[in-house]
Amino acid sequence: MGIKIGLESHVQLISKSKIFCSCKNPFALKEDPEPNTLTCPTCLGLPGAKPVANNYVIDSALKAALAFQSDVSDEMFFSRKGYFYPDQSKNFQITQYEAPLALNGKVELKMGSKSKLVRLRRLHLEEDPAKIIHIGGLSGKGVLIDYNRAGSPLIEIVTEPDFESPEEARVYIQKLESVLEYLGIYDPTAIGIIKTDANISMGGGERIEVKNITGSKDIEKALKYEIIRQKNLLKRGQKPERETRAWNPQLGVTQLLRTKEDEEEYGYITEPDLTKISFKKNQLDAIRKDLPELPDEKYNRFVKQFKLPGKVAESIVSEPDLAELFENVSKKTNPKLAGTWVSGYLKKTLNWHNLRFKDSGMNPEWIVSLLKMFQTGKLTDRGAEMTIRKMVEEKKPPEQIVKKHSLGKAKIDLDKVVKAIIEKNQQAVEDYKKGEDKALHFLIGLVMRETKGQADAVEIQKVLKKLVK
Ligand code: ZN
Ligand code: MN
Repeated sequence: MGIKIGLESHVQLISKSKIFCSCKNPFALKEDPEPNTLTCPTCLGLPGAKPVANNYVIDSALKAALAFQSDVSDEMFFSRKGYFYPDQSKNFQITQYEAPLALNGKVELKMGSKSKLVRLRRLHLEEDPAKIIHIGGLSGKGVLIDYNRAGSPLIEIVTEPDFESPEEARVYIQKLESVLEYLGIYDPTAIGIIKTDANISMGGGERIEVKNITGSKDIEKALKYEIIRQKNLLKRGQKPERETRAWNPQLGVTQLLRTKEDEEEYGYITEPDLTKISFKKNQLDAIRKDLPELPDEKYNRFVKQFKLPGKVAESIVSEPDLAELFENVSKKTNPKLAGTWVSGYLKKTLNWHNLRFKDSGMNPEWIVSLLKMFQTGKLTDRGAEMTIRKMVEEKKPPEQIVKKHSLGKAKIDLDKVVKAIIEKNQQAVEDYKKGEDKALHFLIGLVMRETKGQADAVEIQKVLKKLVK
């Protein structure tokens, strides 16, 4: 059965100020500000207040458009999308409809050894509405409205219905996050997020929209759920109706919101308070020239230059910060070893703390020292992992960490330890001689405990075999 999925992603940009006023933009912050502290007459939608377009935000959107190889329009303008809801006190959202910033981009996805090209239909700018907080849940007594988010900058990126599976959709969102972070216009460690609406149809049936899916993991979950739901309907001879549903991340289900309205029903009109904006070729050329090396190019270079395995290179280039660290560290150590540890345990530990290396208080030299200690056998695998964990927590170089927490590989006289254990555990030794696995594991466990886990199980077994006659 053919599955067709198209995505509309709203990216919360990290400019200093909002899109049409000079209020601080909350998306760039690391923690939620007090409600309704970042507002002014414009973003509160008070009568008479006039919007002014933020050039920095427009430049950010242009960077994204060019990075995705879109056709930037010669001229764009803003429109009012009319709707009545308390999150939008003006009763319209300023967005772009007839004349968006860009059309026709593309994004390449890596799916194992295969790759896939996803076509972008359009990329436009708009303001985010306010945040509505339902007191006591959706069926509760009322709502609170936080206007900090009102008028904060979004780019909306709309794809063609090119996805054929939930996995592809997940990889696409990860790719968006990655490229946008490279461009310096989106920060996955700040408050701003990517929120996606998915359109999905199966077997040539009706298109169903699932709204409000945050991040890459949930897009996969939401689509998987929706596919099963629609399959079950079809199995019972029912046809999925054209409708709008919402993803509920707590329950892991999609829920009916309303039967789908058409985009035209919003009654778009041209925004009279903002001027048309045209883009000159030299302005676009300058932005294009200034684009950083993007993940795809970096991937190809890393595989070629450092002979990294594809998976390792992919994991490292997904975050600009990690890629930079890797390049620094690989100058002074074995690049393959650096690749393994940077993409592996270090990335995992930093992500756990929602940290980028540059904000971690650590120094690339520390990683170099750590890898050298590992290479020269001063640290075991496990010891190196523990050292990384403590380095991130305590922001201290590996030498200090290893000393403080006694993580170094001790010189153990294994023969001596095993001999003592044999003497004290004659019964277990007898059972071991009879070939009982349980007894073997018991003895290994005792030696492990005695050596505080620093001896290797295979080595212990060898010594046991040698000493038990
Ligand atoms: Zn404002
Ligand atoms: Mn939108």
